[in-house]
Amino acid sequence: MTTASVSRDAARLAELIRSSSRTVVLTGAGISVPSGIPDFRTPGKGLWEKVNPMEVAHIDVFRREPDRFWHFYGQRFSSLKDVQPNDAHRAVADLERRGLVRGVITQNIDRLHRAAGSQRVVEVHGSIEYCVCLDCRGRVHHDRIVEQVEAGLTGAPECEACISPLKPNVVLFGEMLPEDAMSEAYDLASEADLMIAIGSSLEVYPVASLPEVTLEAGGRLALVTQGRTPYDRRADVKLAGDVVQELSQVLQAI
Ligand code: ZN
Repeated sequence: MTTASVSRDAARLAELIRSSSRTVVLTGAGISVPSGIPDFRTPGKGLWEKVNPMEVAHIDVFRREPDRFWHFYGQRFSSLKDVQPNDAHRAVADLERRGLVRGVITQNIDRLHRAAGSQRVVEVHGSIEYCVCLDCRGRVHHDRIVEQVEAGLTGAPECEACISPLKPNVVLFGEMLPEDAMSEAYDLASEADLMIAIGSSLEVYPVASLPEVTLEAGGRLALVTQGRTPYDRRADVKLAGDVVQELSQVLQAI
């Protein structure tokens, strides 16, 4: 491969990465779309086609009708069992391994950054790795829940100790984001001299405020995402093509 096939913008981002010493990556649903996980904000896609996620994946539904909540969420759990990271996740992990990225803040709950080899992953919306009991704080691993769902469980899985319904360790609609994760995310953002936002429309707060934190502190912003974001005019560079192709060009140019 020659650098002739690298776009000017990809070369610009590669240059920004090389010249920065505290780069942080922020990712949203768009980085997992090539792994076959639909972005639920895109209408008419997959699991979210027939239900309103704002209504079903809500903490109030979980508390009032845990069986109904799990009737929906169980499918989501099973559908994420076999998904694999794609080359965009691997590119982010590669940059961290080479000392070019300090960590990744993600809105995704799919565990794919860790599966790709990223070490410092701040999951601000939690992850499906565990389910938790809200009464005793006991944890049950994802694989155990999937086993139960695949064995025919349609209602809520229960905590073995207190028989309370288990809740996925993800942030549901109506819930606050985990304080420790958000605090680490703010630290990374405020210390960053470059933030690369990948596959996020940067519209969901408080995560959408993180690029602002970096910019206010004097850092730069790069965007790798299709579609508009509120930060388009303030970014040093925007790569608006396919996320896998764009990041592979960036790696090639580094
Ligand atoms: Zn319990």
